[in-house]
Amino acid sequence: MTDVLKRRGLTPVINASGTMTSIGASRVLSDVMAEMSAISRHFVRIDDLQALASRTIAETCGAEAGFVTSSSAAALSLCVAAALTGDDLARIEALPALPGGERRVGLQMGHTVNYGAPVPQAIALAGAEVVPLGTAALCETYHLRAALEEGLAAVVHVVSHHTVREGELPLDLVVELCSAHDTPVIVDMASEYDLRGPVAAGADAAIYSGHKFLSGPTSGIVAGKAGFIRNVALQTRGIGRITKIGKEGILGAIAALEAWQRRDHAAIRAEEDRIVAMWMAELDDIEGLALSRHADWTGNPITRVEMRVDPGAAGLCAWELAERLMARNPAIAVRDDLAEHQVLYLDPCNLTYDEACVVAQAVGETIDAARASGDGCRLSWNGVKRRRGGGA
Ligand SMILES: *Cc1c(COP(=O)(O)O)cnc(C)c1O
Repeated sequence: MTDVLKRRGLTPVINASGTMTSIGASRVLSDVMAEMSAISRHFVRIDDLQALASRTIAETCGAEAGFVTSSSAAALSLCVAAALTGDDLARIEALPALPGGERRVGLQMGHTVNYGAPVPQAIALAGAEVVPLGTAALCETYHLRAALEEGLAAVVHVVSHHTVREGELPLDLVVELCSAHDTPVIVDMASEYDLRGPVAAGADAAIYSGHKFLSGPTSGIVAGKAGFIRNVALQTRGIGRITKIGKEGILGAIAALEAWQRRDHAAIRAEEDRIVAMWMAELDDIEGLALSRHADWTGNPITRVEMRVDPGAAGLCAWELAERLMARNPAIAVRDDLAEHQVLYLDPCNLTYDEACVVAQAVGETIDAARASGDGCRLSWNGVKRRRGGGA
């Protein structure tokens, strides 16, 4: 498995961080890879392939239709574009400039997040103007109603651990209020397991990444209402051209959805729980680490290990631990979104039991080395922020 990396002089990464696209998202299933490889040598009408994808997505997500694009970020722009243009080919070719018509798109302030790039940018790329709804931790019905009364081409609703869930408007209520104005609702579910919920709640489009928990190739899967999906597909004659996906990617996404239906969810969950139990046991006696089991933020069926670092006792800060693990060879990626609170997470989704043992050992070694050498607690959080900001 690491042969290709060695031959190319690339550092292997053990992934204890979940489905992070910056390190390759997930392990592509071998059945999926085999289909992609097989179709790569043939010609096929892409429309036929997208029609097949539409049927597979419809069945898997309980939707009327579906479409495959190059990523969820692309899908977000194309869904917004569909809301702005309908099936008007002149408007489709005119984007991102729009000759008249409604171009305002509502987004709850608490959903104005960054998944590696900002959500509002993906919306604006289609030529839309983002209308923030409410404030960071409070969006009420009157915020949405006022924007709808002024005019909205669509509302984008984000489901993610990144969003502020305190005070948010729930999806079904958003759908109810929007449907009174015939305003489409687009749901970004890129990294969520619930393939049927948003469509069942009446969303016009729900977006999933093929390369995250689905373990497919890099792709964006859109499920939704037939008329809306048709207008998304028409964007390939406009801005969708820059987010083209090839025959391999479309078939790979189809195969990944089929594999998801056959997937032995209970057995995979049991293996993940075995890894978590091993981590809880192996890391238990490390001084300066407090461990607990942490249920997923948005209710996905994943339990992670939360490691709370006491810098005084461990001899280094959480962000230093994450950085030193990533500097090893093989590198080790842990989940560090909350590192500034001295918390890191280990995710059991994307690694083997043996790799998980390497992670446990590396965490212990890194802390022992920091405590012995006294070279930790040097990099402040402000220092991390300054470095990331590119400033002095
Ligand atoms: C990962 C993610 C994206 C981007 O997905 P890509 O398919 O990698 O473009 C968008 N939104 C959310 C909420 C995500 O988690």
